[in-house]
Amino acid sequence: MRIDPHTHSTASDGTETPAQLMMRARHAALDMVGLTDHDTTAGWSEAAAAVLRTGVGLLRGMEFSARYHGISIHILGLLFDDADADIRQHCRRVRESRVGRARAMVERLAEDVPVSWEDVVAQVSGNATIGRPHIADALVARGVVSSRAEAFDRFLNPRSPYYVPHYAPAATDVIRWVKNAGGETVFAHPRAPGRGRVVPWEAFDELAQAGLFGVEIDHRDNTAESIPQLEQMVRHLHLARFGASDYHGAGKPNRLGERTTSPAVIEALTERCLLEVIHP
Ligand code: AMP
Ligand code: ZN
Ligand code: FE
Ligand code: FE
Repeated sequence: MRIDPHTHSTASDGTETPAQLMMRARHAALDMVGLTDHDTTAGWSEAAAAVLRTGVGLLRGMEFSARYHGISIHILGLLFDDADADIRQHCRRVRESRVGRARAMVERLAEDVPVSWEDVVAQVSGNATIGRPHIADALVARGVVSSRAEAFDRFLNPRSPYYVPHYAPAATDVIRWVKNAGGETVFAHPRAPGRGRVVPWEAFDELAQAGLFGVEIDHRDNTAESIPQLEQMVRHLHLARFGASDYHGAGKPNRLGERTTSPAVIEALTERCLLEVIHP
C-alpha cells in the first residue's frame, strides 16, 4: 500500500483539477491520496467521483492556515465533517483575508514591476483559495520571472518588502475544531526554515496536549538535521509519523508519491475518525 496523504489541486494553488490529480495518483502507483487544499474542501466531490475510475482511494482533508504565537504554520485536518460550523467559519475568514492580503501584496508589487490585480485573478481557477502561488503565476505570465520558485525567491517570501500576512487562527483552536468535527490533525512540514520562522520545540508538547495526532516528518522541506529530532519528538509524545509529497502539480518540483505514510498509521487514523476513506 502506497499512501500520499498531502496534495493540492486547482481548488487552491495546485495546477491540476481534483480529477486530474486522481489520475496522476494512479500513474504514480499510489493506492490512496489525501486531497488537502488550503482552507477549502471544494475539491472533495470531484476527487471522490474519480475514485472508482482511477482505482485510487481518497482521504478527504484540508490544509489549515494557522499560527503558533505569531509564527505561521500549516495543520492538515483529515476525515472531518466539513459542514461543521467552526470549520466553515474558519474557511470563510481565512479565504476572505487571503483576498485582501493578495490585493495588498499586488499593490506593493505594482509600484516596482508590471503586474495588476486582474493579472492575478486570471490565474485563479473559479472560486479557488487564493495564495502567493497565484501572484507568482501572474509574474510568470508577465515575464517578470520564469517560475514560481523564482517569484518566491525574489518577491513573495516572508522576508520580502512585498510580503503581507493574512489572518490565521491559533493552531490549538484548529486542532480542537477538527477533533470536534470528527477528524484528526497533523502538523505539516514543521521544520521548513525556507518558509519563514519555525516554531520552538516546546510547540510540539503544546500541540500534542491540544490533541494533535501526527507530525509530517517525511517532507522534502524539513531539514535533514531535523529528522532525527522529529523522530525522537513523536516517539516521546506518542504521535504518528506522516510522510507526503505536498504535490502542487506543475507549480513545484515535488513529485506525487515521493514521500508516503505507512498503512498502519492510516489504519489508526481511520479508526479514530468520523469520515471513512473512500475506497475504489
Ligand atoms: P500562501 O498560501 O499564500 O501563504 O502561500 C504558500 C504556498 O506557496 C504553499 O502552499 C507553498 O506550497 C507555496 N510555495 C512556497 N514557497 C514556494 C516556492 N519556492 N515555489 C513554489 N511554491 C511555493
Ligand atoms: Zn500550496
Ligand atoms: Fe503547507
Ligand atoms: Fe501543502
